[in-house]
Amino acid sequence: MRGYDKTAHRIVLFLNHFMFVYHVSMAVYFSVIKYRILAWYMIVSIFVTCSNYISISKRKYSISSAVSGFELCAFIFVSTVCLGSNTGFYLYGVSTIIFLSHVNYMLKRLESGSFNCLFFIVLIMISCVSGYLYDSICGSVYDPGKKAGAVFFISNCLLVFSVLAMYMKVYIDALYKSEQALEDMAHKDRLTGVWNRHYLLDRLDEIKETGLEGYRLAILDIDNFKKVNDIYGHNGGDAVLKRTADTMKNMFSDCIVCRWGGEEFIITADENVLTIERIESFREAVASTTEIFGEKEIRVTVTLGVQDYVSGTGTDEWISGADARLYQGKTSGKNKVVY
Ligand code: GH3
Ligand code: MG
Ligand code: MG
Repeated sequence: MRGYDKTAHRIVLFLNHFMFVYHVSMAVYFSVIKYRILAWYMIVSIFVTCSNYISISKRKYSISSAVSGFELCAFIFVSTVCLGSNTGFYLYGVSTIIFLSHVNYMLKRLESGSFNCLFFIVLIMISCVSGYLYDSICGSVYDPGKKAGAVFFISNCLLVFSVLAMYMKVYIDALYKSEQALEDMAHKDRLTGVWNRHYLLDRLDEIKETGLEGYRLAILDIDNFKKVNDIYGHNGGDAVLKRTADTMKNMFSDCIVCRWGGEEFIITADENVLTIERIESFREAVASTTEIFGEKEIRVTVTLGVQDYVSGTGTDEWISGADARLYQGKTSGKNKVVY
């Protein structure tokens, strides 16, 4: 939540900087071309934007967003009345709706106050329609002419749609990232970073649809792990689990590696990929590695049971087959691969 708090703060602050720069440039521009009503309106908006910095610094986003919402509605109305609907100032309504919807979501997520987005959508619609009606019935206050009108329309289009494109990119990237994070949380083991039991079972079910023939599965259990916990404590045990998982991730990066539970792991892949030689060299690598834990050195060994998939059998049977071989290894001296 803290990370999101920072991102949300940055987004709101960036939008306020943007509004400030926009209003200052428009105030200067309208003063130069002597469109006094608009110039004064922009000066008032600069003050409004400045006051928003205070609410933003106090994290009162609902206040700053409501103020910006009202200001944008007034801007749509005033600019359409002054310059006519052909200049396309009503288009700001589109980006305002997106901005306010995001604020709505953001405040819900931060659980810091509510924000009525629907109210502003109605207000934006009223601003667009009333500005349009005024222009069609009474005519605009200023006549920017055809050329300047077209320049206004094109630059408004460019600005509004560029902001929308930018927003969509940021939004889609953020959505993708958070989905990835959720997926990792649901499918990965927190301690070791390898897949969890649920993920493995789902993947095996998926592969089963196209056929598990030719697949090999190795189940491994760390030898005398209770002793590791007894001698070095739970944290020492955890360090060994992490190191063993890291070795597996490195040596079997092309296989599915999962923490089956406790200090048991499963590795699975096609038998041409998960060869017995590779499994043997992994066992040797674990046995010859020393885990430095504080001032102490921890050495462990692993026993593995290997079972190839037998056509027509279920995944439970397959895993039980490997487990039975693991048991054979445990009862016949440990630190070995049984297949
Ligand atoms: P064996 O060689 O027969 O496998 O003997 P063992 O001592 O390893 O026996 P067993 O496999 O039954 O022991 C599993 C131990 O793993 C028991 C449990 O306390 C410990 N354990 C399970 N999960 C964790 C964990 O996440 N962290 C730590 N530190 N220990 C764990
Ligand atoms: Mg065990
Ligand atoms: Mg064990």
